[in-house]
Amino acid sequence: MSQQKRYFLPEDDIPRQWFNIAAVMPTKPLPPLNPKTRQPMTAEDLFPIFSEEVSRQEMNVTDEWIDIPEPVRDNYKNYRSTPLVRATGLEKALDTPAHIYFKNESVSPVGSHKLNSALAQAFYCKQQGVTNVTTETGAGQWGCALSYAAKIFGLEAAVYQVKISYNQKPYRRSIMQTFGAQVTASPSMSTRAGKDVLTRDPNNQGSLGTAISEAVELALSTPNCKYTLGSVLSHVTLHQTVIGLEAEKQMEMAGEYPDVVIACFGGGSNFGGVSFPFMRHNIKDGRKTRFIAAEPTSCPKLTRGVFQYDYGDVAGYTPLLPMFTLGHNFMPANIHAGGLRYHGAGTIVSQLLKDGLMEAADIRQLESFEAGLLFARSEGIIPAPESCHAIAATVREAKRCKEEGKSEVILFNLSGHGLIDMSAYDQYLSGSLQDYVVSDDEVAKNLSKIEKII
Ligand SMILES: *Cc1c(COP(=O)(O)O)cnc(C)c1O
Repeated sequence: MSQQKRYFLPEDDIPRQWFNIAAVMPTKPLPPLNPKTRQPMTAEDLFPIFSEEVSRQEMNVTDEWIDIPEPVRDNYKNYRSTPLVRATGLEKALDTPAHIYFKNESVSPVGSHKLNSALAQAFYCKQQGVTNVTTETGAGQWGCALSYAAKIFGLEAAVYQVKISYNQKPYRRSIMQTFGAQVTASPSMSTRAGKDVLTRDPNNQGSLGTAISEAVELALSTPNCKYTLGSVLSHVTLHQTVIGLEAEKQMEMAGEYPDVVIACFGGGSNFGGVSFPFMRHNIKDGRKTRFIAAEPTSCPKLTRGVFQYDYGDVAGYTPLLPMFTLGHNFMPANIHAGGLRYHGAGTIVSQLLKDGLMEAADIRQLESFEAGLLFARSEGIIPAPESCHAIAATVREAKRCKEEGKSEVILFNLSGHGLIDMSAYDQYLSGSLQDYVVSDDEVAKNLSKIEKII
């Protein structure tokens, strides 16, 4: 490996504001609906669940720039700017004329981009006098980020972790506990939502949808406790725009501008985070950058799902959101990219996909690990199984550039490292990992069971 070209920003250039793409979207996303009355919700309607400031951010479709509070920015400085790296090793391995860059969010203290929003959400809770926060986590990345942020701002954290990950990835549970969080495997008997699932299916291995129901139920039934979410919602993606805003300045230092921006896709926060600052130039200045969301073939809401109002959780506690969905009752296969096992997509990305401002690619599990291994061997970083999907989509684009003889500039977001996911790599290396493909029939059958809300 030759010396990597890495770009950092001086502390003063770390963004002071997040970028709110909703303010400049050609078609605004449809409003969330109250799950009981089916009426459009206001920020105030969200106050029982979320902190007031993020509730306002969630509904804000007018302010293009939103100030990053100083205590949040101070904590960003502990690991930001994250490096922008020219992946010359990967370029060489692929023998491609494309210029490949990646933004390395794996250098955060918890190993993923999730901390960018956890710090903001914990801060706003603290500022409002909240004492307890609760959430769900899949692979454990969000749970780790929230546990860390809660400790920093002096809050108690209770985390429901999807059971399959709780058992498959015990080290993330240990990390959360190290930061002082209380961790419960979901479905659990501690909530009505968990009990309902377990009585129907005692061996249920859990899903993000179920864990969300449990966490929301706990927040609603505990005084001075708020719920937090690590993906999907608009305010989460807003906080993640710090990634793309930094990348924009760093690409400038490298003297380039991306033709293609790629990120893996669970609910859309790291995708939106790296993409939206660049997408604003497509919307406002006529730039022609392509944006590709890479999702697993086992949970293909963008490529196979439908655009309709649906719940964010299994029990139907959350607002109804207009989104690409496989149905809130969808139980994804137990792939290792736990952060991508979610039935729906954020409302903003859903509208952007509908309007043709972005694209989606589906990636098989084996293709993702093949790309992850190539990346590890050529760049020296072991990517998270989620991030492997972004790398696989990048490899596809780099190969296309080679076929077409084009030296396009590709930027992808490395959302996290995989050092706590080595059991997944073990399985891949020993040949026991499989692909899971969902058929159109399965999707249609699942969607036919949920109500159509006009
Ligand atoms: C949670 C997670 C994701 C998926 O979430 P998004 O909101 O879609 O970004 C991707 N990569 C890593 C490392 C994660 O922890």
